[in-house]
Amino acid sequence: MTIKPFAEMTEGDYAALGFKSGLEIHQQLLTEKKLFCRCPAARYSDHFDAEILRHMRPTLSELGEYDGTALMEFKTRKEIIYQIQRDTVCTYEMDDTPPFALNSEALDIALEIGMMYGCSMVDEIHIARKQYLDGSIPTGFQRTTIVGVSGSIPYKNRQIGILQLGLEEDACREVSDAGHRRVYLTDRLGMPLVETVTAPDMRTPQEVAEVGEILRKLVRSTGKVRTGGGAARQDVNVSVAGGTRIEIKGVPRIPNIPLLTYNEAMRQYNLLLLRDELHQRGITATTFATKTETVTKLLRKTRYQPIRNAIADGLVVNCVLLRGFHGLLRWKTQTDTFFSREISDRVRVVACLTTLPNIIHSDSPSETLSSSEWQTLRKSLGAGDEDTLVAVWGSTQDAATGASEIVIRAREASIGVPSETRQALLDGTNGFERILPGPDRMYPDTDLPPLRITGERLQRLRASVPEPYWERERRYREMGVPDDLVPSLSISPYAALFARAVETMHVPAVLAAETLVHFPKRVRKRLRRHTAFAIELLEEVLRAISDGTLAREGIPGVLMAVAEGTTLQRGELPPPCQPGQLHAIIEECRAELATTRMRCQGKANEYFMGIIMRRVRGRIPGRIVAEQIGLIASEAHQ
Ligand SMILES: [Zn+2]
Repeated sequence: MTIKPFAEMTEGDYAALGFKSGLEIHQQLLTEKKLFCRCPAARYSDHFDAEILRHMRPTLSELGEYDGTALMEFKTRKEIIYQIQRDTVCTYEMDDTPPFALNSEALDIALEIGMMYGCSMVDEIHIARKQYLDGSIPTGFQRTTIVGVSGSIPYKNRQIGILQLGLEEDACREVSDAGHRRVYLTDRLGMPLVETVTAPDMRTPQEVAEVGEILRKLVRSTGKVRTGGGAARQDVNVSVAGGTRIEIKGVPRIPNIPLLTYNEAMRQYNLLLLRDELHQRGITATTFATKTETVTKLLRKTRYQPIRNAIADGLVVNCVLLRGFHGLLRWKTQTDTFFSREISDRVRVVACLTTLPNIIHSDSPSETLSSSEWQTLRKSLGAGDEDTLVAVWGSTQDAATGASEIVIRAREASIGVPSETRQALLDGTNGFERILPGPDRMYPDTDLPPLRITGERLQRLRASVPEPYWERERRYREMGVPDDLVPSLSISPYAALFARAVETMHVPAVLAAETLVHFPKRVRKRLRRHTAFAIELLEEVLRAISDGTLAREGIPGVLMAVAEGTTLQRGELPPPCQPGQLHAIIEECRAELATTRMRCQGKANEYFMGIIMRRVRGRIPGRIVAEQIGLIASEAHQ
């Protein structure tokens, strides 16, 4: 069986593959402060006051073993630089002070979200440490806690399990990662986020995206989570029958999920076929044979530029023989991607040979070494026609690490799909990120005592848990809210205000929805920037509508003025224009028109309308003006 193109795959095809997928959604919470210190949250800036340099070193776990990820990170010998700004980071984030008490605002939001999922809520909060060895958290671990377990959300005609809901701190933002140096900005570090882990209940890539969308809307409907770039990030777990659970990290947008998961399913399937092919050739983890030689001298005169430059710079070239692998580096793994990429990725990440190409191989000899150079290498390593050669270049140490990673990854091919985390790439494929951490990645944190969650606290929070957004959507439609406003309003932080406007201020539902969703959107579009309107401000606007001091036509102008920095003064709002006043204004304008020489008589009416609207815009609907001056038929006479 070969895998069909993405667009042609059916549910049945995915079932035949044994496709299974689950989501881990990270969503930042809308709190003022960070989770375990009192630094401000979400104050992002590229500016920094100081840099701190750290090296990561693995320590033996209590069981006396090194974690696979820890070893991998150690092999990379990375220098980690933290850029810190005095306003957004304190000594807690840099591991010089113990944690402060857990941010109770964040905990309340997390508990509320847990209740939306129908989770069993924990009665005591225990903080754990989750190892993070890539340097993205200076302490080497993330403080995390489970808030609820065993929830579910409805989807199609079934339930999608929510395995657990965690509350944890965000990591640093990566600035750059090249060679042996990785740079992080620390402003995001320590911000509270919730992690929603679903069961692997999704059976097609489309289902994964749809469930992701439902979860995104659900948490947003609380009005207490952050929105915008980077505020929500998805990790997607994918496996196929016989494959391995692979985690694709940091998918920035839900619409990217279907193609990414399809490609990962294809990769696993093709890696399993590759394993079968190796077994047929008699290659298993035990019979796997290899040999590495330093071949710098043999390639002194090469015209292949990357190696020529490397040798000129005093670097060395190592060549790895993979016995019996002929043709397999060209084995297709994902769309336009081959097994050689799996090897190149490992070399890039672990040996830090980040300039591409970082390997060449004899299965694609063209445009690299000349055939006589390949011949020389074959002879030197004792390679036959059925074997493959892979060359890697760098400093003595990096080229040695590179060669050993080539061997490790090639041997893994005879076992199947290695456990690793992978990063989402823009073209819908994915690349190796790191070895999957071992099960002993979590351990208790004893810096903070357990925190009891009282029944009263849960009860108080339960009152503010919003109804599911799909219920809201149904109700809004019944109230006559236009279809295009329903989805935004149902997950809007203004949803509660909408309810108040309609129920207690008696603003018509359509007008309230326009005020809260449509007009703000129009202002943002006009100004081409994101503009947040405070709930208090919009409440004032709705009150002005309710007591008759602001007409529908005046709303965009008021919002625009506020967006441009004017403070809203209710007393200063232009009062609605009464029909009697309009009559007087029309007469004044008619007099003005009489003294104006019109070059084009055909435009006279338009001009007339224009000068009247200049005086009454926002105070009375243009339709009434048009009726009054006879441009359109009055409804009263129809
Ligand atoms: Zn801090």
